[in-house]
Amino acid sequence: NKKLVMIPGPTPVARSIQDQMGRETVAFGDPNFIKDFKELISDLKTMWRTAGEVFVVAGTGTMAMEMAIANTLKKGDNVLIVSHGFFGDRFIDLCERKGINVDVIASEWGTIVPVEEIESKLKEKTYQALTVTHVDTSTGVCAPVEEIGKMASKFEDTLFIVDGVCATAGEVEYVDDMGIDVLLTGTQKAFGVAPGLGILWAGPKAMERRKSLGTIPEFYVDFDKWLPIMHDPAKYFATPAVNLVWALKESVAIIKEEGLENRYARHQKVAKAMQTALEALGFKILAEKEHRAATLSNVIYPEGIDDAEFRKTLYEEGMVVAGGLGAYAGKMFRLGHMGNIDMHDLVSVIATIERALYKAGHNVELGKGVGILMQELLK
Ligand code: PMP
Repeated sequence: NKKLVMIPGPTPVARSIQDQMGRETVAFGDPNFIKDFKELISDLKTMWRTAGEVFVVAGTGTMAMEMAIANTLKKGDNVLIVSHGFFGDRFIDLCERKGINVDVIASEWGTIVPVEEIESKLKEKTYQALTVTHVDTSTGVCAPVEEIGKMASKFEDTLFIVDGVCATAGEVEYVDDMGIDVLLTGTQKAFGVAPGLGILWAGPKAMERRKSLGTIPEFYVDFDKWLPIMHDPAKYFATPAVNLVWALKESVAIIKEEGLENRYARHQKVAKAMQTALEALGFKILAEKEHRAATLSNVIYPEGIDDAEFRKTLYEEGMVVAGGLGAYAGKMFRLGHMGNIDMHDLVSVIATIERALYKAGHNVELGKGVGILMQELLK
């Protein structure tokens, strides 16, 4: 049977995006490809509103994290890492390996680090950068990026780096307007493309910083190597992922047709509907209510449900979700609801969860969750 892929990335890939990946691959010097790539860069810059630069480079979200750090910080610099979970923590190792001095403020999983706490830390010493994960996929917590950005803009020496891997194109994000200096993401989540491209927006202050660093140790992820290509894709540094660039261009076309603001509103509505339905079925959402992501839900089992059994049943019933991480392994599953998903998918998701609960011998009124979901979505 058909398997609905509802993990938090890769997300379901729309037919028209799949078609771009299935196209006959052309030379990266093909004039039509160059034109397409140019338009893509220009759209990304305009839609996410930066007066700076955009980079589209083959690699995963982790590569994009590395690219952000490599081009803004050098050995001996100080970085303040705000961590709301597993992916926030990923910056620690990444920065330490580069000889950057790391200070971490971490929240209890499911909660955020208060903005005032970040501010008082920034006042204590000079940090060359601050990293925040917009949505930490391990906890489903959404950071108040706009508020942090406004606060952080007061600190002239500090760049605000945002990991948008599980957020961009689903959570409200505008680069310059929100005081973000570097926003990084990947294609496999709210863009609804297969994994394989990293996208970075670097605002004017970040580009200034890159200039001040001179030659950096990293080669493949160096802004200086890619900038000429991003300005003129007829130039060569390393082979662009031709079909993925087309696929991302199609994703952006879909987003333009929907409207970015409408897309953000749809994600919020869908998240609320899914979470309300799941809670009515006896699950709990890990993230505290005020800071829940719109892109995924981290769903804690009711008493008596075995994680491995439950996810096996879900698979047999035609759906894949992800397991919990860290202390929540075995206690929760992670459900993506971002990108180009529609009513058909959402109804199926809740119906599949109801069937799995039923098969687990749980006392469930079939159709209850689906009813609540539809009521919420029709509001
Ligand atoms: N940051 C966040 C918030 C993520 O969710 C992920 C992937 N789940 C990453 C970074 C790493 O991305 P990738 O797996 O594509 O390297």
